[in-house]
Amino acid sequence: MAEFELIARHFAPLAAVAPGALGLKDDAALLSVPPGHELVVTKDMIAQGVHYYPEDPAATVGAKLAAVNISDLAAMGAQPLACFLGLGLPSDWPETWVADFARGLGDVCARYGCPLMGGDTINGVAEPILSLTALGVVPLGQALRRGGAQLRDDVYVSGQVGEAGLALQALEGFLDDPRKADWVERYRRPVPRLALGQALRGVASACADVSDGLFADARNIALASQVGIDIELKAVPCPNGTDPIAAGTAGDDYELVFSAPPSQRETIFTLSQSLGLSLTRIGLVTAEPGLRVLDRGGKPIKLAQLGYIHR
Ligand code: ADP
Ligand code: MG
Repeated sequence: MAEFELIARHFAPLAAVAPGALGLKDDAALLSVPPGHELVVTKDMIAQGVHYYPEDPAATVGAKLAAVNISDLAAMGAQPLACFLGLGLPSDWPETWVADFARGLGDVCARYGCPLMGGDTINGVAEPILSLTALGVVPLGQALRRGGAQLRDDVYVSGQVGEAGLALQALEGFLDDPRKADWVERYRRPVPRLALGQALRGVASACADVSDGLFADARNIALASQVGIDIELKAVPCPNGTDPIAAGTAGDDYELVFSAPPSQRETIFTLSQSLGLSLTRIGLVTAEPGLRVLDRGGKPIKLAQLGYIHR
């Protein structure tokens, strides 16, 4: 199938909500940034066999690609503006796969107001390669950064961590649990914490999304902020009866980990209520650089690795 047909049939409908996409019929899209705002730009790329299983439903591959990018916007406190798709497909790749992929991507883009406004397509690669660039906006100077954590700030994480890691274990046949289907759903369709990220502007001192693992991403905040973070293992919110160390070192959760001064505790509690999302205080910013995970006695636990190691 010709590239322009593929675009017209499966991607142009997703762009219909955005006049500046020009129906994906022009050379590029037109976008404007609201006055007093700045652009936030992120890109995530995934490859079959590396970041998702060939047998994963195409709709969930599209949904996840959109969600992980929108999660980066959430971590910056941004409001989504648009996204751009880079699509590399083997020749003779089934059009039904593309249709399902586009539907899954489009559903998530529609839910979070991040319309597809362009992209590029190449044919004839060995395995599918998918890349999305997401653009968001944030009031000038108010983006949540990793580098703002201050001594004695509290450290929080949203929701629960570890479910995506448990899903991988279950998919690989290493464990069986009645909650398996929920975990696999969580792995395939992560929920970007967009409303939380935006509400944390002016509240959190630093923020990151949990893509590599809670401990690894908390450590990224500690490094960027030139401080230390102590996490209490017993406070790490993970599914009942599962190992909190595994939960803190598995990736793909797409929760937000953030720091905030103790003066914000009440605000954060209220925010948790209004969002219907748990925000758990898991630790503290300290002077001693690096990340420590503490056991019940307050002693640092030796960890072989903090999170997912990038290949
Ligand atoms: P060019 O010839 O400049 O590479 P294309 O013919 O690749 O332009 O693209 C034409 C239009 O289709 C552009 O607006 C581009 O953004 C859009 N487009 C191409 N591929 C995709 C895709 N996979 N998803 C969304 N839009 C796409
Ligand atoms: Mg092109």
